[in-house]
Amino acid sequence: MKKKIYDILVIGTGLSSLTFIDAYLENNNLINVISFNKSKKKFPQIDNNHIFKILPPQMIGEDKQVMDYFSLNKVIIDKNTKFFGSLEFGGLSNYWGLQIDKNIEKDISHLSKKTQKKIKISFHEILNKLKLLGQVDNKYKNIFIKDKYINHKFFEKNKELISDEPLLAFQKKGNKKGINLNLINEEKDKLTPSNLFHKNLKNKKIIFHNFFVEKIQNCKEGLKLYCSNGEKKEIFITKKLVLGCGTLITTKLIMDYFNIKREVKIFHHPRLFSVYFSKKKWKNKMKFQPSHFHLKLKKNPLLFTADFRPGNKIIIEAIVKFKKFLNPIKFFLNIIREHFIFSNIFFNPKFSNLYLKKRGDTYLVFSKNKNIKKLLKKTSKKIFNFLISSKKILPFYINYFPGFGADFHYFGTIQVGKSKDLSVNEKCQINKKKNIYIVDGSVFKFNGNKYPLGLIMANARRIGKEM
Ligand SMILES: Cc1cc2nc3c(=O)[nH]c(=O)nc-3n(C[C@H](O)[C@H](O)[C@H](O)COP(=O)(O)OP(=O)(O)OC[C@H]3O[C@@H](n4cnc5c(N)ncnc54)[C@H](O)[C@@H]3O)c2cc1C
Repeated sequence: MKKKIYDILVIGTGLSSLTFIDAYLENNNLINVISFNKSKKKFPQIDNNHIFKILPPQMIGEDKQVMDYFSLNKVIIDKNTKFFGSLEFGGLSNYWGLQIDKNIEKDISHLSKKTQKKIKISFHEILNKLKLLGQVDNKYKNIFIKDKYINHKFFEKNKELISDEPLLAFQKKGNKKGINLNLINEEKDKLTPSNLFHKNLKNKKIIFHNFFVEKIQNCKEGLKLYCSNGEKKEIFITKKLVLGCGTLITTKLIMDYFNIKREVKIFHHPRLFSVYFSKKKWKNKMKFQPSHFHLKLKKNPLLFTADFRPGNKIIIEAIVKFKKFLNPIKFFLNIIREHFIFSNIFFNPKFSNLYLKKRGDTYLVFSKNKNIKKLLKKTSKKIFNFLISSKKILPFYINYFPGFGADFHYFGTIQVGKSKDLSVNEKCQINKKKNIYIVDGSVFKFNGNKYPLGLIMANARRIGKEM
């Protein structure tokens, strides 16, 4: 039988691919998508066990999806490195912390004015269409009510630091007074891939093929995809291919396609995790609250962004899982959890230390000898000194560096606006192969924006509208 030739195939169902699909179907009536769904089958495993010691709180219980992601994609994570991914409908996008940086300009300023404008328009369209919480340039306003104890003013007096407010990826239209975060339905209002699918795409014509892609090759009709579902193999032929497999797998497939054997740098935001102890309770009812304040340096705003959220049950659960000696006092920790202030400090990608390289028939993610302890110490001291001067916290804190890659933000391997072999043009077509498009974080280097998914989605929407 003659093989079907697709006009266009999308790979992946994370928020990058689904946003692309949503935009594409505004002007087209059918799309085919290759994405693997959860499988109960036990596949042979690659030893990546060390990463499970620090699985993000949201991913606890999802070990199989993480294991399958690495085993079926044949990726090994070196022992001194952390890295996460998930092979299922929605991928890593199922577990994200739901904060978006609204300042997208800095990371697209190297692109043509026309492209910048299109990305900004797509960004605003996403905010309006998905009804996300927050405020942008006075053009978009769907405000959320913040806690009165730790609020904006708490950060305003400082000479060195500036405060900023992220967008929160909950979908709810507020009134003039705004939305109280305690009234959010965390399951239904969250911007997750399955909610996005059910609210926007369920009635659209999308054909899902339950496979993962192993290899991409040229053929006379266009591109040939070698796929598998772990039991049977399948070949798909397409004229155009849209990759949204997340940075690691997109990059791996492209390195394989071009037979690139050298190491490729994966950019990320090294993360320091801190806990402060508040004198009063920071009240909240959510199971997992995204932070609603960010701090940056006034003079060097690109160096880091620190976020702050109150203690919550999911984080306590994760801490007790990894620090088993705390188990006997879990009940007590939950009682005092509103006195904890958790913070992530995400650093500039110039401190990145992740690399990808082919090794035999697998790919290895590894890091090199790099010491950023001084930077971590200096930054955390700055933030602590400021917090203590506000008289809101007790005079001690805990810092923890979970390792390179444990920040979950992976990007910048195939950047837009560069002329290298691994790069895309402003339409996000691979420069050396124009019928392959990339719509995930691979194409940006997030220097300013430390919460990249908003810009990733805006760009994916732009490409989806144009195709
Ligand atoms: C705990 C956590 C908190 C986070 N918090 C934030 C935050 O607050 N703000 C922010 O901006 N970002 C955050 N992130 C990062 C954010 O989740 C990712 O940047 C984002 O999910 C990437 O989306 P994506 O669509 O590019 O990739 P993914 O969501 O990883 O989707 C990849 C898709 O490709 C599929 N796939 C993989 N391999 C193959 C294959 N071989 N063949 C076919 N399909 C394949 C997967 O199944 C999946 O459907 C967080 C991440 C985590 C884990």
